[in-house]
Amino acid sequence: MSKIEPIRNPAIKFTQLFIENKWQNSSDGATCDVINPATEELICKVQIGNESDVNAAVAAARRAFQPDAPWRLMDASQRGRLMEKLCDLIERDRTYLASLETIDSGKAFSNAYDEMGYSVDCLRYYAGWCDKIHGTTVPCDGEFVCMTRREPVGVVGQIIPWNYPLMMVAWKLGPALATGCTIVLKPSELTPLSALYVASLVAEAGFPPGVVNIVVGYGVGVGTAITNHPDVDKVAFTGSTAVGRDVMRSAAVSNLKRCTFELGGKSPLVVCEDCHDLDEAVKISHNAIFGNHGQNCCAGSRTFVHESIYDEFVKKATELAKKRVLGDPFAADTQQGPQVSQVQMNRILKYIDSGVRDGAKVEFGGARWGNKGFFVSPTVFSGVTDDMTIAKEEIFGPVQSILKYSSFDDVIRRANATSYGLASGILTKDITKALYFAKRIQAGSVWVNCYDAVLTQTPFGGFKQSGHGRELGESGLDEYLEDKTITIKVPAKL
Ligand code: NAD
Ligand code: MN
Repeated sequence: MSKIEPIRNPAIKFTQLFIENKWQNSSDGATCDVINPATEELICKVQIGNESDVNAAVAAARRAFQPDAPWRLMDASQRGRLMEKLCDLIERDRTYLASLETIDSGKAFSNAYDEMGYSVDCLRYYAGWCDKIHGTTVPCDGEFVCMTRREPVGVVGQIIPWNYPLMMVAWKLGPALATGCTIVLKPSELTPLSALYVASLVAEAGFPPGVVNIVVGYGVGVGTAITNHPDVDKVAFTGSTAVGRDVMRSAAVSNLKRCTFELGGKSPLVVCEDCHDLDEAVKISHNAIFGNHGQNCCAGSRTFVHESIYDEFVKKATELAKKRVLGDPFAADTQQGPQVSQVQMNRILKYIDSGVRDGAKVEFGGARWGNKGFFVSPTVFSGVTDDMTIAKEEIFGPVQSILKYSSFDDVIRRANATSYGLASGILTKDITKALYFAKRIQAGSVWVNCYDAVLTQTPFGGFKQSGHGRELGESGLDEYLEDKTITIKVPAKL
């Protein structure tokens, strides 16, 4: 990996809206600045769409979904081949794309490069599904033969955040394309560049016009135009729980469009006294919260540690945080770049202040790092209690809160005492204990002796207010399909 040379100044090739395989300015010519959060410098301006651009994109997606349109007449296996072609092109341009992702989002190049690989894995996984999505024949009451078909839900709106810009595109396009839907996707206005470049690869791969449309824009503007649109059949949203609520309201009022949500979390990671190895446990917990600068929906943001190992754990966690390498995202040894924006940086610093005010102890960090770029020091809090804001709200930054527990049943109760339910983890040698935890925890993912093992083949999503529906795996397909029942009368005797 260290041998891959990044492109420090990747040429910016696409900054417009992508509708019906063509590039165009927004109808009012509005633009927004794309900022490199490591340098605070302007990378470029991109066209910012509005409601009339969304209308055009939805109309294009609807045309592409007509029963006689090429996409609908195409063999499912051919859809799979187009998706494979798209994967080949992303791989061809992987270094360029990872470099683009790095300047736009601030994440370390090595992480961005890995994420290009995960994106391709996801798209290839779904490419393989295209001609394997089939219905059933059903033994039913009466003189009937009954079969079901699984049909694409139609035109889908997809709204994604900035934390994993291209991976979120892959998670969204994968199941939507595999099932034969058509798409209007809105990247985050903070990180539009990798999605726009991949739009060019969609056209190069040979997808029919209108199958994938990409409209960059703000949440209020393009996002709301999608969620309010009467001709969008489904919206898939990844972002905050607060916005998720608005999306559901718009969906209800407009046309009762189907909704799936991947929202926030405040995920617990429980370190038991009988964990395999304390240093390893410290490392897993560290990566669980500091990975992607803490900008991770399933971040292990509540580290619960058994009282018998608490003090030693805090000491080691602090040592590890001190060793974390911050700096130029392109440098080979950088582990942590800047937060995505000044707004996010300031939000995180406010949360840190509230932790101090509430009486938690800053073991390390607790401030901005440097004075150029939106960096935040990896921060370790000890003495955190359940009532503190830093233990309750999603910070979405590099802030570890270490909480002490004594009884196992009690820590499960505390872990569940949140409106979120995205992920969870437990570190223990005792498999019975791990399974007891797995059964009782209210979360979509339970990681045992690991964390953040989000795998393409397995369902991912939230309990409670962390979401509706699942992405990845076979479950991810269900959200893009309608079951149709075809019932044929066959008399028992002719
Ligand atoms: P956000 O909710 O502010 O924005 C997400 C997307 O929604 C962006 O594209 C934004 O422009 C758009 N948006 C904003 N307001 C909108 C509106 N009223 N109508 C329609 N669209 C609107 O979230 P963010 O700050 O971009 O991302 C951070 C949040 O996303 C965190 O809470 C995090 O947990 C969550 N997230 C969840 C997952 C997951 O898989 N569960 C993954 C990544 C991020
Ligand atoms: Mn950016």
